[in-house]
Amino acid sequence: MTSPVWHPYAHLKTQAPAPKVVGGEGPRFTLESGESLLDATCSWWCMIHGYRHPRLVEAIQHQADELCHVMLGGLTHEPADRLARELVRITPEGLDHVFFSDSGSVGMEVAMKMAVQYHRLRERPGKTRMLSLMKAYHGDTAGCMAVCDPEEGMHSLFSGFLPQHHFAPAPRAPFDADEADVRPDLDALRAVLEAHQHEIAALLMEPLLQAAGGLNMTSPHYLRGARALCEEFDVLLVFDEVATGFGRTGRMFAADHADVTPDIMVLSKGLTGGYLGHAATLATDRVHSAFIGDSSEHAFMHGPTFMGNPLACRVALESLAVFEEDDYLGRIRALNAVLREELLEDAALRAHPDVADVRVLGATAVIEVHDAAALQGVAAFARQQGVWLRPFGRWLYTMPAYITPEDDMRRITGAMKGWFRRD
Ligand SMILES: *Cc1c(COP(=O)(O)O)cnc(C)c1O
Repeated sequence: MTSPVWHPYAHLKTQAPAPKVVGGEGPRFTLESGESLLDATCSWWCMIHGYRHPRLVEAIQHQADELCHVMLGGLTHEPADRLARELVRITPEGLDHVFFSDSGSVGMEVAMKMAVQYHRLRERPGKTRMLSLMKAYHGDTAGCMAVCDPEEGMHSLFSGFLPQHHFAPAPRAPFDADEADVRPDLDALRAVLEAHQHEIAALLMEPLLQAAGGLNMTSPHYLRGARALCEEFDVLLVFDEVATGFGRTGRMFAADHADVTPDIMVLSKGLTGGYLGHAATLATDRVHSAFIGDSSEHAFMHGPTFMGNPLACRVALESLAVFEEDDYLGRIRALNAVLREELLEDAALRAHPDVADVRVLGATAVIEVHDAAALQGVAAFARQQGVWLRPFGRWLYTMPAYITPEDDMRRITGAMKGWFRRD
């Protein structure tokens, strides 16, 4: 019998049977057949410690023995309280308030609701739309779909169902661009703000790395410029660090590259090391204090059932402790050096007629091709070499677990490059 499991993003008629995973250890997971695959994606970018990390497993076991769940409505508990303090400590200065939820999409929904209500509480009720960027991806719920790239963002069929927001072009200046190179990108942002500032509540962005929209990278100058524009036009700046948070770009947060504090920041994927679903939406005092008042409108009417789940908070605390004690930023630098050497500095790869661009940032690398057809078959090719790759569209990428040893990192880049040299 075929399985009743309905797989995500799958074309039901053409999907290949999904191999069954029975376990994992470090950067590899194991299939029922005994086949072991080196995970180049760390399971949609969240399993930053790899599989079956003993400290994370133990943290969940201990917490399960104490308290698996209790509602955060009117109650609190040690893991939620401690995790909130830790997130305030490690995130950019000024993000002092933490609202928990259960996934990246919901964390972004919370951010957008917060932004709209913030302006309403300050007597600017007309600010009810978002400004997002082309190539953006912020999640799959309705509110989030409406701020994903409306053309290439895989949700265009829902356009009649979704609220309308504003979009600015995706930034084009690369990571190492100087201030002058970023000017045209910021001018484009300014143009939309000038035209629509009276209805824009917040500017949303995946700072430095637009991930699911095609691993588009930009400069810290762009973040600083965006920060200044938001001040000028009374618009909140929301950083969606669901993918970039916890080291992916080479610093703890992408915001750290630019020394910028957004008004609201959203974390998920790496938050629990991938071991349980959870998210956090952080806000500055300026945002939070607008919610302190006497009217019933001052309450923030949101409360996911599983917000602050003790198991998730406890494993997030352990994840963070391991991250710091085992010098993950150092490990990320080492992975980055391999990615640069093997991909960025490979002239033959870059000159290959199918290859449009090669980009590397932190523990992220992508080979972009001109035509998606050029990647047909690459996943099967990599699997023969023991590597799990899952390219999408025109992008063949890796976001490895940070514990990936150097030889395994080279095995991943070898499979990626090997595809372009196979005949
Ligand atoms: C994955 C992702 C989301 C959505 O998170 P889910 O947990 O899948 O809902 C939102 N924003 C960004 C940048 C992401 O990469």
